[in-house]
Amino acid sequence: MRNIFSLTHPQAREEILRRGYPAYQADNLFKWLYQKRVKDFQAMTDLPRDLREELSRDFFIGYPREVEVLEAPDGTKKLLLELEDGEAVEAVWIPERNHTTFCISSQVGCRMGCRFCATATMGLRRNLKFWEITGQVLKLLEFTEGRANIVFMGMGEPLDNWENVAMAIEILRDWVGFSPRRITLSTVGLLPRLREALLRFPNLRVALSLNFPDDERRSKFMPINRKFPIGEIIEALRDLPIKRRERITVEYVLMEGVNDSPEDARKLGRLLRGLKVKINLIPYNENALLPWKRPPEERVEAFASRLREMGYSVFVRDSKGNEIKAACGQLRTSWGKGS
Ligand code: SAH
Repeated sequence: MRNIFSLTHPQAREEILRRGYPAYQADNLFKWLYQKRVKDFQAMTDLPRDLREELSRDFFIGYPREVEVLEAPDGTKKLLLELEDGEAVEAVWIPERNHTTFCISSQVGCRMGCRFCATATMGLRRNLKFWEITGQVLKLLEFTEGRANIVFMGMGEPLDNWENVAMAIEILRDWVGFSPRRITLSTVGLLPRLREALLRFPNLRVALSLNFPDDERRSKFMPINRKFPIGEIIEALRDLPIKRRERITVEYVLMEGVNDSPEDARKLGRLLRGLKVKINLIPYNENALLPWKRPPEERVEAFASRLREMGYSVFVRDSKGNEIKAACGQLRTSWGKGS
């Protein structure tokens, strides 16, 4: 038995042709799977009965298994989802004013080693398959009415598992109806892949986790900076193939006494001068594994104002789901195989 979601559309077509049915039945199958989201082949009433029988003999309709749902007072829900091999990832459902945001994972763990991030402490356990990425979205859709956006800001570095992430984005676009402009890829800045990603999906939104205004500190906290230092990131921000000059989001996690001084704000402002970016400030989400602290609110506001005075649009991202450890950098699974 195989998970039917592990088939790409061309593969589904093959399977169906091989069984002697017309290729267009693959379209019908995918509509049942991704749009109507039925969980039983028998419900696929416009597929020939025999095909339904054959498919249910060889395949199962495998969603990630919901192990736990935690809900915060603000309505944020964190789902712990178990995969077929017993590993688990977290996916977060965040209600916003006019839509819902789905925060999803791309890897079990991560190997980027950012010293402030809880996921990094797990190391990389494995990449997610593309259907484990779309599976998170299908699960989150069960809680949702109306529009949703997707952000790859859960566990993992999406560009370190780009082939699966790209295939997932393709399926979400073609079969679930998520335009890439409603999908944000958040990255530490694996620059050649980022360029590739934007050539493949010109409308894809990008968020770049800069977090520090100089190479000395960025390299210390984000080892990837030794490979792709700030200068190269800034250069990339200048000439990435972005459609209609959409603005890239620069993310900056504020840690007390580490990167939150007025001088750091000025440095960041100078660094980004002339670039079409918006800045997301993320006050650090504290966690038991790591010693760093969130700055007091006045300090966050002062940092934001300084950048606004320099002409930037700045958002302070309130960390929804803090109470349930669903906020950025807190997605660390202690549940699952081998732990
Ligand atoms: N690997 C990708 C996506 C996952 S992290 C990336 O780095 O962009 C998503 C965002 O959360 C990043 O901007 C990261 O810097 C930030 N983050 C990590 N740990 C955090 C923490 N403890 N508090 C607040 N933000 C954190």
